[in-house]
Amino acid sequence: MSRFSSARFMLSAASPAQFPADRGVEIAFAGRSNAGKSSAINAVLARRGLARSGKTPGQTRFVNYFEVGPEQRVVDLPGYGYARVPERERVHWASLIEGLRERASLRGLFLIVDARRGVGAADQDLIAWADPDRRAVHVLLSKADKLTRSEATAALKAAQRELEARATAQLFSAVSDLGLREAQQVFLDWLGR
Ligand code: GDP
Repeated sequence: MSRFSSARFMLSAASPAQFPADRGVEIAFAGRSNAGKSSAINAVLARRGLARSGKTPGQTRFVNYFEVGPEQRVVDLPGYGYARVPERERVHWASLIEGLRERASLRGLFLIVDARRGVGAADQDLIAWADPDRRAVHVLLSKADKLTRSEATAALKAAQRELEARATAQLFSAVSDLGLREAQQVFLDWLGR
């Protein structure tokens, strides 16, 4: 049985004022739209269907909170990287993540990056935002099942080069469960379990 069988959706916040009380520990998941973030949350928590994928630009408005234990939360950040998001929406997104970064309970960030695409400028911006001196960032190079073994090794090396000491990285697949245990271990360590 999943260690997170009691994980449940808490709330959707459209502004930092709606975030839950800043107590305990929370772990954020972020990534470009379609990078595989929802699949990664569901795989790490072993809870199919908990996080829903947001495929349309309109869904960049909300931060979704899940409770995974007493005063333990997962924060699902809206996907980024839409080329033609209106300015108003970009400003709104920035205010959401600015509010999040101030939170003492935010322990770490899982950044989902499509392994075939590699770490891009928008991903680097998000890492800078998370303040890697203050909290941990772990990159899941997702959809690694779509790569050959040698391509996957090359992708991991390239990502590690790009990230330098700002973040750790690993290969991951929500389909083949490649790297799942490693990702779950990081998650549990951050929760202090
Ligand atoms: P999100 O928009 O970042 O939340 O991405 P989703 O989790 O909804 O995934 C986007 C698409 O990629 C969906 O069609 C998923 O089925 C697919 N996908 C996600 N993770 C994997 C993976 O590990 N391997 C493969 N082959 N496809 C994946």
